[in-house]
Amino acid sequence: MDKFRLVPFLYKSLSETKAYLPELNSIQGMTSGAGWGMGPFMEQKRLPPWIRKSLQTNQNFNKVHGLVGNLRLHTVCEEAKCPNRHECWSSGTATVMILGDTCTRSCRFCSVKSGRPPELDKLEPKRVATAAKEMNLKHIVITSVNRDDQLNGGADIFGDTIRAVKEMVPGITVEVLTPDFEGREESLNLVLEAAPHVFSHNIETVRHLQAQIRPQANYGRSMWALRKAREWEPTLEVKSGIMVGLGETEEQVIETLQDLRENGCSMLTIGQYLRPTKNHEPVHRFVHPDEFARYEEKARGMGFQAVASGPFVRSSYKAETLYAEMLDWRRGNATHVAG
Ligand code: SF4
Repeated sequence: MDKFRLVPFLYKSLSETKAYLPELNSIQGMTSGAGWGMGPFMEQKRLPPWIRKSLQTNQNFNKVHGLVGNLRLHTVCEEAKCPNRHECWSSGTATVMILGDTCTRSCRFCSVKSGRPPELDKLEPKRVATAAKEMNLKHIVITSVNRDDQLNGGADIFGDTIRAVKEMVPGITVEVLTPDFEGREESLNLVLEAAPHVFSHNIETVRHLQAQIRPQANYGRSMWALRKAREWEPTLEVKSGIMVGLGETEEQVIETLQDLRENGCSMLTIGQYLRPTKNHEPVHRFVHPDEFARYEEKARGMGFQAVASGPFVRSSYKAETLYAEMLDWRRGNATHVAG
């Protein structure tokens, strides 16, 4: 294994990485501030130059880190080994993951722990709201693990969390990124009744890779959740996200975008899949930034009003900015209609 290939192993901490890769000591001089957690993928392929991420942090990072720890919250930033964590936390934001840290599903792309989850924590909504207040958030993204062990999938806690946040932080906008609740409409409604500003559910990959990548979910059910949210309230923004680099073709991505549009999505994120550990699906391809730009252009042409497309884009990446873009479009659109 040559040294260049080891660069992106740097992710959370050097000690963690060293435990995994003893040879790292010899290349630390090459890596500072440049790499991130691609993990074992680098045993297979060389990273392209656009897959680089700064690990710089500031006081905001420490504040977010402290709050999350003190309030006993989980974040998808940490649990999913998100490459943007240093950037997002340093800008004072994080995506809270509710319903515990253990998922009842085991998707091939996701590093969140799977297994038998603990009891639901009824006090979690209040702690999330406290975190939103302490972080001075104007926009919060709340996601969760799947809780298929619960009759309503934990949807009641989702609803309670939305309400608690809105009550404790007046004026905040709330974005939820939810599971499919196994297609149970009553569960989905428990979330929608709490009136989030953005409802998001990720399609994750193209139709033909669903069974391989997310075996306990499916394309039709995810489209169903998005459609139901769209039908619920016309002013609710409906958002989805897809990863590329899992073996899909460009045509299949376009087809997925069309399906998302037809099922009511107006906001979209497209990002490069990156393998979190050696036990996860390998990266099949690094998508060139030009291809991301083409997807964005196509998506806007289809009528998506807010689109983020790029190697490090994740569904909650710069969510506040994407929501602002959506609102700008609405205002522009309203002006146009009124005029
Ligand atoms: S992109 Fe989302 S999940 Fe990743 S660090 Fe930023 S807020 Fe967290």
